[in-house]
This record gives sequence, C-alpha cells and structure tokens, in this order.
Amino acid sequence: MSRNDDLFERARAVIPGGVNSPVRAFGSVGGTPRFYVSAAGPYVTDAEGRDYVDLVASWGPALVGHAHPEVIAAVVDAAGRGLSFGASTPAETELAEEIRRRVPIAQKIRLVSTGTEATMTAIRLARGATGRDLLVKFSGHYHGHSDGLLAQAGSGLATLALPGSAGVPAPIAAQTLVVPYNDEAALEAAFAEHGENIAAVITEAAGANMGVVPPASGFTTFLREITSRHGALLISDEVLTGFRSGASGYWGVLREAGEDVAPDLLTFGKVVGGGLPVAALAGRAEIMDLLAPLGPVYQAGTLSGNPVAVAAGLATLRLADESVYARIGHAADTVSAAASAALDEAGVPHVVQRAGTLFSIFFGAEVAGGVPDYETATRQDAAAYAAYFHAMLDAGVSLPPSAFEAWFLTAAHDDAALARILDALPGAARAAAAS
Ligand code: PMP
Repeated sequence: MSRNDDLFERARAVIPGGVNSPVRAFGSVGGTPRFYVSAAGPYVTDAEGRDYVDLVASWGPALVGHAHPEVIAAVVDAAGRGLSFGASTPAETELAEEIRRRVPIAQKIRLVSTGTEATMTAIRLARGATGRDLLVKFSGHYHGHSDGLLAQAGSGLATLALPGSAGVPAPIAAQTLVVPYNDEAALEAAFAEHGENIAAVITEAAGANMGVVPPASGFTTFLREITSRHGALLISDEVLTGFRSGASGYWGVLREAGEDVAPDLLTFGKVVGGGLPVAALAGRAEIMDLLAPLGPVYQAGTLSGNPVAVAAGLATLRLADESVYARIGHAADTVSAAASAALDEAGVPHVVQRAGTLFSIFFGAEVAGGVPDYETATRQDAAAYAAYFHAMLDAGVSLPPSAFEAWFLTAAHDDAALARILDALPGAARAAAAS
C-alpha cells in the first residue's frame, strides 16, 4: 500500500469521504487522491516525496505560484504582530482600496472569509435593497454552498427550483429560478412570469465551474439591461475570475472587449486572499451602505478581515502587475495550444474554451462544436478525461480531478514547468483516445 493510500484510509476513518471538500476525493476520475505536504512555485509535493507541476493552484488563489517569498514574508510579519484582533486594522482598508483601484465600480467593499459567505450576503443584500425574494441563477454556475444556491432547475423553463442537495428545504430552493446560461429567451420568460418578485440575477462573470464557458458576446450587456428594466439587481460573481482572468477580473476582460457593464454587486474570493481565507462583496455605495452597522441588512464575522489573511491577499495583489498576467496568459496559450495539437494528433475530438487567462478542454464529439451551457457540458466524455487525467498525473502533472473545472496556471509556471507539461501531453492524449 502506498503512503497516499495509507493516508487516505486513515483520513476516511475520521473525515467523511476522507476530504474536507468533495472534489478532492477523485470521485469522478477514480484512484487515490494525493496528500500534499508542501508546494513551491508551480510545483506541489506529495507525502511520497513526488512532485507534480500543479494546474489546480488551490483552485485559483495561487496566482503568483505557491509559497511566493514575498507573500510568505508578509504573512510571517503579520502573524508576528498577532493572529486576530476582532477589531479594525489599517491593512483591511488597503485591501479594499486595492480592489477598488482595479474595479472602480466596486465603490464599497466588505471583507468576509469565503466565497460562499460573499455570495450569500450579496443575495441577502439584494433582497433587502429590493424588498423582493426571488433569485435567478444559471444552471452549471456555482456560487458556494448556501441553501438557496444549491438549487436545481425543475423541468420546464422558468420553473421554481428543486433542492439540489439533501437538507435544503423545498421552500428555500423554490426561491431560486434556474435558467440555462447564454439563453436570452429563457431569461425573458423568467422575467415575464416572475419579474415583479425577482430581487436579483446572479451570474459567474464567466462560467468556470462546468469547465470554462464564457458569456456569449453581448450576453452580459443583456443581463444588465433586463435586470434594470425589471428593477432587479445584477450580481456578478467574480470569486473565481476576479484578479485571475485579468488584472481587473472578467469585468476588465469584458470592458476591453467593448462591453462596459456595471453590475450592482460583485463578489470576490480566491486570489484576494492569496491562499488564505479572504473573500469580499462589493458594489454600488448606496447598496453596500444597507449593510449593518449603517443599514438594516445584517452580516458579521469573527475572523472577517483577519490580519494574516489580509496580508497574504494584499501581498499577492501587489505582486500581480501586468507582467504577471502576461506570464499567465503566455502559459495558458502555450499549454492550451499544445494540448489541443496533441489531442488532434491522437484523434480525440475536443474543444478548448477560454475566459481571459482561464481555459479548460472539453473532450468528446458531442461537445467539440462548443459548449455554451451546462446541458451541453454534461455531454462531454468524462471517461476520456479520467484516462487523460491519470496519464498526466503519472507523468508528474496534476490537473483538476474533474472534467468540470478550469485549468489554473500561475506566473510561476516557467519554461521547465511548461516543458514537463508539454512532454506529458501526447501520451495523455493517446490514453484518452484508447479509453
Ligand atoms: N463562487 C464561485 C464562482 C466559485 O468558483 C466558488 C468556489 N469555487 C465560490 C463562489 C465559493 O467560494 P468558497 O469555496 O470560498 O466558499
């Protein structure tokens, strides 16, 4: 039995499924998850002493690579001055200012600890601001695990949702309408039927939790238009894309493409904490000021704005200048082009989809024409991805252990790391072809 097998067995005895977040369990690719003991730059090292080029990057936060010396120094310095005060610190304001500098429509910012909290609070705020209850979300978009966001679409369009998890009361799921992404007609139908009761539409700024599915050209502009027309708010969830898909998140990517859309509220996470628990909700000042203590919408947190976590986020964002995004963009171009060429060579139908520096690859003839929504994403060839994933892992490259995830590169993916990925791609493509 390998050391990873042994650790997994021990973990399963005391931790449900052996993991503290489900996708880590390798459920959709099979096999034993690797237990990591350290990470540096583009590499992670497992308990057997084996290193892997990492394309998970802690699911996004490790923008400048793992254990960047300046981030670690900032964390050590902050920790030395106290782990938590439960009171205001100067650095919290600096982090809020840094977020607003990058995304000026984030006029005011409240720091929380997880993306789940950020979206949960944004929705409460939208309900408090509009006096309405219903929320519209898109199928395949993930916004964390609060009750109302774990909802699945019922059969027809514009039906009230069913619980997407055991333990979610049906009346709570029924406050959420789930519609297909990139489908203007479905949204028009939802607003035609329920418009007066819809508090907000929440959308990932670019879909990245069903593989990468960017908004169609004009779709985000349409979201702004239809929500404004019906007196509902638009919440853009940038927990994953924020300060990763580009310096100003996907908001900036869209703006450069000529779509200057101002959502009422935005949520951030992952990169804003640089690997420690920081997330944020942000938006128009008059809406944000409805939060306690100024307004009637309650939100609080013992560890919100934690000084050590804020130090990691601030150090990461301060490092993340244009050259960092250029390096990540170059790495994404290199890996996605080489992966696609290797899959072509092996005769595996596929499509690469991009959102700024984020990308993922969908395998299978059914999806090779492009994936605009979740229903299409579910038709990908998950068995081919599982074979590909394991061939890459055997060659020392750690991909996301699910076909429904983005591939994360970092500014630390240098020529040596990229070369190891490129060397592994042809064999993995052949494994996918043979699956
Ligand atoms: N929103 C989006 C778009 C996410 O990708 C995630 C996490 N992957 C969340 C919210 C939830 O964040 P957290 O896991 O920090 O609660």
